[in-house]
Amino acid sequence: MHSSKDGQRVIVRAWLQRVNAGAYDLVVHLDRAHRLHLYPDPVLRRPSAPVAEITDETRAFVQEMFRIMREKKGFGLAAPQAGRNLRIFVTEEHEDFPARAYINPSFIALDGPVEVGEEGCLSLPDIRVHIRRPPRAAIRALDETGNLFELWNDEMMARCWQHETDHLDGILILDRMSPMDKLVTRRAVRALERGEGHA
Ligand SMILES: [Zn+2]
Repeated sequence: MHSSKDGQRVIVRAWLQRVNAGAYDLVVHLDRAHRLHLYPDPVLRRPSAPVAEITDETRAFVQEMFRIMREKKGFGLAAPQAGRNLRIFVTEEHEDFPARAYINPSFIALDGPVEVGEEGCLSLPDIRVHIRRPPRAAIRALDETGNLFELWNDEMMARCWQHETDHLDGILILDRMSPMDKLVTRRAVRALERGEGHA
């Protein structure tokens, strides 16, 4: 049996447990608020808007993008793939490049005779196509703290920047693949269009 004081403590404890449980639910909910979006989700086709101001909310979203990219073992991920039409993409660590967020990215230069390279996309599982792109790229973007940076590359990262920037303009590898790839991937693309893709 409880004295009335103990009774109050029990009530307060029960109340705190409920509040904590609620907070926990909220954290879980926020944590799962973003997921990988697959073709033909319309979010992948809409042009994305520049980020007007980099806030804690932007940084939280960037962390969500890194989480999704790593869960799905991708090399890069653009914001529309995480369900938001913002001009942001992230890339995984590679050779001299640390994992990095690119906010409001733009190309300073794209040049060299176009080269054919194989590309896949997390939003188009099991599809790999050959795409012609300039091999050299210089890019400018903001990081999560709002600092402007510029990078140059003439290897895989230059191709990745172009692939991810395409996403921000609603362009997918399907739009750039060769007629031969179109034939080869036709079944897989149709399966995705019927909603048979698994994120
Ligand atoms: Zn992609």
